[in-house]
Amino acid sequence: MESEESLALDDTERLVGKSALINNIKTASALAGAVRSTLGPNGLDKMLVSENGEITVTNDGVTILDKAKIDHPTARLLIGATLSQDRTVRDGTTTTILIISEMLQNSLDLVKLGVHPTIIIRGLELALNECLEQIKLHSKKVDESQINNIVKTVLSGKVDSALGERLAFLAIEAANNLDYSENSTDSERIRVKRLQLKEGTVTDTDLIHGLMIAKTRVDISSNSDSNNGRVVIIDGGLENEKLDIDAEIEINSLGVMEDFHKRSREKIAIQVRKLVDEEVDLLIVRDGISDDAISLLTNSGIVAYRRFERDDIELLSLVTGAKIIRDISKLESSDIGNYARRYEKIISEVKYTTILGTNSGGMTIAIRGTTPEKREEVERAFDDALGVASRLNIESEILPGGGAIQSHLARHLRNFAHTHSGREQLAIDAFAASLEIIPRVLAENSGFDPVNSILSLSAEQTNSGSWIGLNIHDGSNVDMEKSGVLEPSFVFRQSIIEATEAVIGILRIDDILWAKTEIVTPDWETDED
Ligand code: ADP
Ligand code: MG
Repeated sequence: MESEESLALDDTERLVGKSALINNIKTASALAGAVRSTLGPNGLDKMLVSENGEITVTNDGVTILDKAKIDHPTARLLIGATLSQDRTVRDGTTTTILIISEMLQNSLDLVKLGVHPTIIIRGLELALNECLEQIKLHSKKVDESQINNIVKTVLSGKVDSALGERLAFLAIEAANNLDYSENSTDSERIRVKRLQLKEGTVTDTDLIHGLMIAKTRVDISSNSDSNNGRVVIIDGGLENEKLDIDAEIEINSLGVMEDFHKRSREKIAIQVRKLVDEEVDLLIVRDGISDDAISLLTNSGIVAYRRFERDDIELLSLVTGAKIIRDISKLESSDIGNYARRYEKIISEVKYTTILGTNSGGMTIAIRGTTPEKREEVERAFDDALGVASRLNIESEILPGGGAIQSHLARHLRNFAHTHSGREQLAIDAFAASLEIIPRVLAENSGFDPVNSILSLSAEQTNSGSWIGLNIHDGSNVDMEKSGVLEPSFVFRQSIIEATEAVIGILRIDDILWAKTEIVTPDWETDED
């Protein structure tokens, strides 16, 4: 990023008309410049240092932009587009930002030629719709055996290949065990708990088919391990009743006090007996458990845990089938869950308990790594891999990677442009050229001549079809299905939707200001620098 681009980022002044557009485009170029070198598996990592010295090493477009904390309206809009891309499909953020920047640049060239932003907007919308049709036509149904490659392609830009291999395996296993019936796209975030552990290296990261939690049982003298038992989950506590103020005033003899405690202990005893009658051997409580209750539970052979977070009891409920109840005295047999195994383990001086269920549908990813930064990176990468893998279970269409789909769409759009007689065709051409930024930068980041790469790729596709893409190892053009460079269709589809929306948003702002200032023929030369 050089001085001119940095200046654009610093400038928060509201500008009008054409200079607003130029300024917005400078901002977009600066952002694209910041992530350009990270695109693809041969892309470089960026080291980000925050004000308080916190370090993040990443190659993930959205992380770079999000951490940059840039205060500029256009920058916020573009970062918003990449965040939205990340949230909805977990991949393709660098692609989105590169296309936005390119599309803005190309739109500016048209504005300079005297094409009104409204016409440009219309052309971009036509081009987008045509691309969405083409994506449908050129997508293929994913084969079970390809999923691993797809998830690895997602991870290739984020982590090294050994870790990518491990995380892809775990993410696919997790995705296959999720329950898709409620049709909730967010289920992967609720049903897979992220737990970072200090010991071990990143490739020791593991998936547990149950709940793992930094807790130990309330009574150390009770059993640390157990198998095939019955579990009850209480959203509340198992504590002695407290005297309220009115009651306190009436207490005038030791006898009344003792009586109160006795009754309170008796209530706890009744609850514990109820658990014993139902052959429950594991009790999970959201709030506290009193000392009286602890000894009663241990003597009755019930192992208990207290102070669980809401998310943890919900996950445990999924895994064991136990219903979350408020009150033991109202316990029914159907509220009781089953677990397969419970064990405790000390990792880096912290006690952890793992409870494996008998139901699938809830898991814990135990993230390992030597430093907190490393663990954060693994967690982000796993989130992306799981997001893509679980979505592929719902939407199983795929596209070729390696710049193939973009090269095809660019060529197709140029032909499509000719079917329009008006000036929109210029905007359709501009859209086409913007997509070529992807094969261009992939070639560039791999050390190949970008212009030659785009030309030879397009020529090769004319002979052999849209699934031919760039082999980033030797610069040749190969079948992406054979080489396993595949991407979910929903990722690239979302990229061009987000990108077009953002560009149109910026052109619209400009459009309004133009109308107000009634500039007919702008004098570009004087304002450009
Ligand atoms: P994004 O944030 O856009 O996902 P990435 O750094 O993950 O950026 O790069 C994704 C691009 O890299 C896609 O266009 C994808 O097709 C391409 N790509 C990934 N792996 C390969 C590969 N082995 N060969 C060629 N292209 C690849
Ligand atoms: Mg990616």
